[in-house]
Amino acid sequence: MVEFRTLVLFYSWICLPYEEQMKTKLYNEIQISLQQTRENLSQWVERTPEEKRHIRLGPESETCVEEHLHVIDESLEKIKEGTFGVCKVCQEAIESELLQMDYTSAVCLGHFTDEELRQLESELELSQVVQRGLLPQEVPSIEGMNIAALNRPAQIVGGDYFDFLNFKDGTHGLVMADVSGHGVSAGMFMSSLQTAFHTMVPEADSPVSVLERINRLYIHNIKFTTFVTIFFGKYDPQTRILTYANAGHNSAYLYRMGTNQEIWLRPTGPAIGLMEGLTIHKDEIQLEPGDILLLYTDGITEATDQLGALWGEDRLADIIRQNADSSAEQLIRKIMQALKDHTNGNPLADDVTLVISKVG
Ligand SMILES: [Zn+2]
Repeated sequence: MVEFRTLVLFYSWICLPYEEQMKTKLYNEIQISLQQTRENLSQWVERTPEEKRHIRLGPESETCVEEHLHVIDESLEKIKEGTFGVCKVCQEAIESELLQMDYTSAVCLGHFTDEELRQLESELELSQVVQRGLLPQEVPSIEGMNIAALNRPAQIVGGDYFDFLNFKDGTHGLVMADVSGHGVSAGMFMSSLQTAFHTMVPEADSPVSVLERINRLYIHNIKFTTFVTIFFGKYDPQTRILTYANAGHNSAYLYRMGTNQEIWLRPTGPAIGLMEGLTIHKDEIQLEPGDILLLYTDGITEATDQLGALWGEDRLADIIRQNADSSAEQLIRKIMQALKDHTNGNPLADDVTLVISKVG
């Protein structure tokens, strides 16, 4: 049974050429993000006494904030008129990558001087290096568990985050998170998320307490213009119990080879950053030898072929089931090969991140 929404999406996707689709998606994202930034900023100005504003921003604060709001309004106006992202020199569309870095870009890359190009490249390289350094460079060794991971950003800077951390009691934490939006701003947010996890988890006992704290932190202290979905599991190799909280993230997939059983670890609460005082529940499952746990982001299930058809969860699950004898690393290779066959050269629209843990 195909849902109506999926059908509508499907038709609108096959009717537009691929580049147009990506552009429309990007402009919508920029528009939403600018509207939210504008709202947050003007609310802050309204509510904060002048004295405090001076302390926070320095003496030129008022004009700076006003100018910033003005620039945002201009861009929002352009998006409405349909003139956003049009090069003022040649009237062609400005490269998406450039707009992602700077929504005020008014000329396309072709008119950059060599010096400007060099500067841009070094900035991008820096963001890339910073972000790569935030993701784990190797998988942890956990008793009785074979783990493999893969992260492939769709753009130069991605918004996916995965991590392996230890709880206070020495048990193992597994994080898989997806920050809404793309590009540099999503990447920046991802790095603040990494700091939050690394600060909180070594002092924490449960995934729920960490996620609720992160939600409070973002709702109250950081002017939030995006949200993040997180699957956070805690695994104790002694008891083989996996306790988890899933804040609006894709259902993790558990294949139980012994009984040929498929279990989806569905959301136990809403995404982080959407509402104050959210309630996330915990769930728990005892893992058994031969169990394969797959954590992923929607960049893989929503990868499209040339006709716009989604890859979907089922195909992902099929590969795991049909190759259950393979190691975690081999499974990742098989999934990536199948994904490549499906997309057949269609560029990935979103980051792809996978973590497979196989109980030995
Ligand atoms: Zn141009």
